[in-house]
Amino acid sequence: MPDSQKIYLKDYTPPAYLVDTVHLTFKLSPKSTRVISKIRFRPNPDSDSREFFLHGEHLTLIRAAIDGQECDPAVTDKGLTAQVPDAPFTWEAEVEINPQDNTALEGLYVSNGMYCTQCEAEGFRRITYYPDRPDVMATFTVRIEGDLPVLLSNGNPTASGDGWAEWHDPWPKPSYLFALVAGDLRNHPDTFTTKSGRKVDLNIWVRPDDIDKCAFGMEALKKSMKWDEDVYGREYDLDLFNIVAVDDFNMGAMENKGLNIFNSSCVLASPETATDANFERIEAIIAHEYFHNWTGNRITCRDWFQLCLKEGLTVFRDQSFTGDMRGHGVKRINDVLQLRGRQFSEDQGPLAHPVRPDSFVEINNFYTATIYEKGAEVVGMLKRLVGDDAYGQALDLYFERHDGQAVTIEDWLKVFEDATGRDLIQFKRWYSQAGTPVLTVTDDYSDGTYTLNFKQETPPTPGQDVKQPQVLPIAVGLLGANGDEVQKTVVLEMTKAEQSFSFDGLPAKPVPSILRGFSAPVVLHRDTDNTERAFLLAHDTDAFNKWEAGRDLAKDSLLRMVTDGAAPDTGYLKALAHVLRDNTLDPAYRALLMRTPSQDDIAQTLYESGHTPDPLRIYRAAETMAQAKAQELQDLLPRLYAEMHTPAPYSPNPEPVGKRALQGAVLSLLTRLDGGDQARAQYGAADNMTQQFGALACLLDAETGAKELAVFYDQWAHDRLVIDKWFGLQVAVAAPEKAAGIADSLTKHADFDMKNPNRFRAVFGALSINAAGFHDASGASYRLLADWLIKLDPVNPQTTARMTTAFQSWRRYDEGRQALMRAELERILATENLSSDTSEMVSRILNG
Ligand SMILES: [Zn+2]
Repeated sequence: MPDSQKIYLKDYTPPAYLVDTVHLTFKLSPKSTRVISKIRFRPNPDSDSREFFLHGEHLTLIRAAIDGQECDPAVTDKGLTAQVPDAPFTWEAEVEINPQDNTALEGLYVSNGMYCTQCEAEGFRRITYYPDRPDVMATFTVRIEGDLPVLLSNGNPTASGDGWAEWHDPWPKPSYLFALVAGDLRNHPDTFTTKSGRKVDLNIWVRPDDIDKCAFGMEALKKSMKWDEDVYGREYDLDLFNIVAVDDFNMGAMENKGLNIFNSSCVLASPETATDANFERIEAIIAHEYFHNWTGNRITCRDWFQLCLKEGLTVFRDQSFTGDMRGHGVKRINDVLQLRGRQFSEDQGPLAHPVRPDSFVEINNFYTATIYEKGAEVVGMLKRLVGDDAYGQALDLYFERHDGQAVTIEDWLKVFEDATGRDLIQFKRWYSQAGTPVLTVTDDYSDGTYTLNFKQETPPTPGQDVKQPQVLPIAVGLLGANGDEVQKTVVLEMTKAEQSFSFDGLPAKPVPSILRGFSAPVVLHRDTDNTERAFLLAHDTDAFNKWEAGRDLAKDSLLRMVTDGAAPDTGYLKALAHVLRDNTLDPAYRALLMRTPSQDDIAQTLYESGHTPDPLRIYRAAETMAQAKAQELQDLLPRLYAEMHTPAPYSPNPEPVGKRALQGAVLSLLTRLDGGDQARAQYGAADNMTQQFGALACLLDAETGAKELAVFYDQWAHDRLVIDKWFGLQVAVAAPEKAAGIADSLTKHADFDMKNPNRFRAVFGALSINAAGFHDASGASYRLLADWLIKLDPVNPQTTARMTTAFQSWRRYDEGRQALMRAELERILATENLSSDTSEMVSRILNG
């Protein structure tokens, strides 16, 4: 990828022209939609440039006029330029676009007979000529003409008639928040009264068949609206809030002003078709998109380098919301599992980039775990450092000072500096420095004083060899020999490369509990032993560190099994049995304690300690460990399974969800002992998808579920979202040597449709997370994925580019596998007319 295509943060210049008002008329037609725009421009007093450039791609310009005079702009495949007055003027244009053939799913496209849009980040330029950048904010008035019963856009409806509707959004917004939907849709209506007493109409719009799957999403929306009022003091600002479900969608959901558009998998749920995990995810995503109304829409990003400004903050807000709804301990563990699984591996490979990148070719490639999840960790650290009250004051100031503006990370940090008097210059490195800091800790004790000695070091990442020390909030507690807490949690603020902290007046050497609540996104190294880990698992008062101690025991055992051929550690198995019997512990928490660290996590840990991970050995160790757990717990499992029974009817509330999580973890071990009898019984009796699908997964994993798999397909053939699960599961649990073959045969199934991102991801996302199957030494999975990425690229570059990350850890493995993966990456890169999205990703993976 030539550097000439790169865009740099340092090159930012303000727009030459600003927009006050936009009027758009859409004359909908599947293959030839006309878009008529009337835009009021004025010269930007903050810009020296008077070059008038409008973005535009895949548009056919029919006519253009300035102040009513026809004009003849210079058009390229990126946009147009024209001579304009040095004073306010009105631009008019008519363009033709082809939504039917728009398989990239950016701009305006047709999905199952329904028109919808996706404009973030740069899709609006596929709708009409416009300064398609987030720092141009304007009010939009939209008229839609089309022979479909439901015609929606942003803001409030102003007028409608047979075959047309008009909308006005009074809040200035950037073009990436524009949305239009037209289709034969049904609505699930409700209302919400804001704290100042304004009534807001709420709707979830779906295809007629899905109308019975909206109730949960609606409840989640109302809870989110209430939570943002209670916790952040933010009220909704229009008379109407619409959510629409669409089947073909590249992302999870989109926060368009007043008209959120959702991937149907992230909003539709009924007990029969959605699992507990689906319900939780839907609640979180509805909250996330709703919270964007203030953090993203009312205050937006100056440019796309600031993406973490809206995403990091909004993820942090949705995580807090879920914690409030469902329990903070379990939520934090799940978030850290996600962070380590996705973000740490990104940080440790060729795709590592700062939370605020310095350059990009395609912004679509930067909707990453680093921007979202590490971005959220950075906000969490800021809150930990300044305290809850000061955080609240800083956020109030942020909303007051920047409402209606497009701002930067500097503006965001300035608000905290002004509200708290703190200097955040060093803290700002979290936004500019890539990589996960490694925090090494040693301790000593003498004369009643206990000292912790910390050392931080961030490994080099592509383009950043030398790193500076970061500000690390390290939450620490100390335990006495009997398990009592002798020092409650304190937050130590580390700012130097090496730093020590002492605790006085301790009669004996305590056991430290370090990085409580995972207070900073770092890799913690401490030379410790399993006695101390078992002690913390039994006694730590911090939910996160208690769980972490159990996970460290499991990981230590697995690593020794892989490297030395050791047997599963009996100390770990006995400690696990002990905590599983502890009925004072929340079932959801116990379910997390039962989970084995992922095979990818073990591979990464081996790689970091100088070993070459063998995916097959890791897989076998994980299997042996699971079998050993089943044996060790065989007396406890049937009892625990029975205790976790949840009475009908199904409820997605936290308590029954936790019970089913533990019951499911127990069932997977029981299946190793009883040949699948219990799982078959559960499959037959299940009245909800969590238990039906959980049982099916256990049976397939034990290679004894062929009959149920066929029955499952027949039962759910009509439901796209359930059939996505059917596709994904078969690949996810396939034995290593069979995974590629199963994935390949599924692509030949009549229901496989590569144009549907959910279906494509169901098969190939599952293949890439089946670690031993993906890395099968034959290279069959590598070849299969590369074949399909090459096929998908001309259809949907965005989804193709994202799926290339399956190869991001290629350098971890042995020479044979490296050569196989490199060959596939080079084959993709050599493809004629490869999109810039995919080309940028593959180049970075190969060369980073
Ligand atoms: Zn978001």
